[in-house]
Amino acid sequence: MWPSISKPFLIMLVLILVFNFSYYLITMRNSTESAEISYSRFKDELAKETIKRVSFKGTSVKGEFRTKVKLPQLSAGKSSFQEVSQFSTVMPSIPDPSLLADLQAKKVDVSAVSTEVSAFMSTILYILPWVLIFGIWFLISRGVRGQGPSGMMGGFSKSGARIYSPKKGIVTFDDVAGMNEAKLELKEIVDYLKDTKKFQRIGGKVPKGILLVGPPGTGKTLLAKAVAGEAGVTFFSISASQFIEMFVGVGASRVRELFSSARTAAPSIIFIDELDAVGRSRGAGFGGGHDEREQTLNQLLSEMDGFDPHEEVIVMAATNRPDVLDPALLRPGRFDRRVVIERPDWRDREKILKVHTRKICLADDVDLAVIAKGTPGMSGADLENLVNESAILAARADALSVNMNYLEQAKDKLLMGSERKMFISGEEKRITAYHEAGHALVALLLPGTDPLHKVTIIPHGMALGVTQQIPEDDRYHYPKSYLMNRLSVVLGGRVAERMVFGDISTGAHNDLKMVTELSEKMVCQWGMSDKIGAITFSRGEEHPFLGMKLAQEKTFSEEMAWLIDQEITGLIKTAETRTEEILSGNRIKLDAIANALLEEETLDARRINEVLRSV
Ligand code: ADP
Ligand code: ZN
Repeated sequence: MWPSISKPFLIMLVLILVFNFSYYLITMRNSTESAEISYSRFKDELAKETIKRVSFKGTSVKGEFRTKVKLPQLSAGKSSFQEVSQFSTVMPSIPDPSLLADLQAKKVDVSAVSTEVSAFMSTILYILPWVLIFGIWFLISRGVRGQGPSGMMGGFSKSGARIYSPKKGIVTFDDVAGMNEAKLELKEIVDYLKDTKKFQRIGGKVPKGILLVGPPGTGKTLLAKAVAGEAGVTFFSISASQFIEMFVGVGASRVRELFSSARTAAPSIIFIDELDAVGRSRGAGFGGGHDEREQTLNQLLSEMDGFDPHEEVIVMAATNRPDVLDPALLRPGRFDRRVVIERPDWRDREKILKVHTRKICLADDVDLAVIAKGTPGMSGADLENLVNESAILAARADALSVNMNYLEQAKDKLLMGSERKMFISGEEKRITAYHEAGHALVALLLPGTDPLHKVTIIPHGMALGVTQQIPEDDRYHYPKSYLMNRLSVVLGGRVAERMVFGDISTGAHNDLKMVTELSEKMVCQWGMSDKIGAITFSRGEEHPFLGMKLAQEKTFSEEMAWLIDQEITGLIKTAETRTEEILSGNRIKLDAIANALLEEETLDARRINEVLRSV
């Protein structure tokens, strides 16, 4: 909550500083002509009859000399003189009864200023602290409710959910590219919400809860919002983690509030993001302290059970961990409909790129299909990011439109990290050039590999150079021959280094990791080893959405473990021998690509073919 108030707080602080500073400026206006002098000096000057007038305010005295007076001034350690026409001093607390008589005797004009603050100032001084206190209290109370400033699309409900009324910023199925099956399934919900009475007359049964399952950034929220937009109903959106993040004990009441506001606004859609945050199996947590989450979950379940058949509220939820959800959530009458959303294939990626480039001025050379094919594995959110990034690059270069070059740069930045300006010695550059040329040449010469797209020795992220291949189409099945070729291509860098320099460098570390993982999967998951055959072992398995390995029990014997290792190294050895044959038989071509790389740093497919034709 503090970060949300720190900004207004800062503004207030700045205001106070400005106020003080200007006050300081006003009071110090005449500082150059005025000097602070000691009381005894003042008496001296009085005796010398240099003083024209004085004004008393409490114990402080201000005055004016008849003519300018030279006063010693101690600054920066060495003394100098300063000519002033005005002075100030402070009277000692010892009474000086003869002062007034002296002043009169020397014909000094004497006046006095009241020490009381003016009525106006005192009113301000009285009110100001209260204004500050109320101001801070107001800001804090807003912060506690977790609400940002208004002016965003949609408002907030008491439960903390964002509300999108049907008229504001409508998202429709047109804004959701691809996902045709998912849209088809949800069409039914849209039809129901559009005309609930008709459905009730016919007596059709409509699902109450729909679970959208898929990796992050694939457009689950977008899709739910589009269902609301298509049907023209109110959309309540909340992340399940918001239920439990604030104070202990509010989760359940927030759920209650959310459902009651949704019922008031019916027909409506409630969307709960990250359902797994409250929906994990009960009693499956580590350690204690899960009461809060369980209470929230129980409340959610009972709200969903409390729907009567005519309720016009649909609950949609999103998760990327359907496996950890409490089975109670998936029972009939709750989230009994499941819509799986996959990462987009290249055709859908092209459509997503089209949606996000609608408002961007594109140059004529732009071919979104090429970008779509070159971004396997990217989600809709990644692609949106890519488009934004390219627009930023174009704007930074003062270009009028986004051309292919900016899109490619943005893609490379997202895929491999941003280009790095670092010093690389000539020798290191040569090693990198041969390493990348090795990958590229094997990719070109082995039949059945993905077409080469680009080779570069400009460092990106952690890599000193990059070789990119772009598949013709997204693949779902990989033949063993394809995977063996892949191993050979990845080993190409290391083999080329060893052949040319008689040594290998640490630059191939990532390649080796890739080779190890791929060959492990070939043997253990896809049964591609002749000696072991069609068996799969839970070794090297990844979670389908998290992309990381989970701890698993070992289900095979020591002998089998040994055989698996033999087979894995066997596959790698075979691939490496192939690579060696190809590269040593084509040394001239390897040199040509490496030299071209050293000269031009980046070669696209067309340029590489030109280089090879010339040798
Ligand atoms: P999720 O909820 O699955 O994490 P979001 O719905 O929040 O993903 O998606 C994030 C953003 O990515 C969306 O706002 C949208 O701009 C973009 N996006 C994702 N998928 C698509 C798609 N199929 N079509 C258009 N934009 C998409
Ligand atoms: Zn490499």
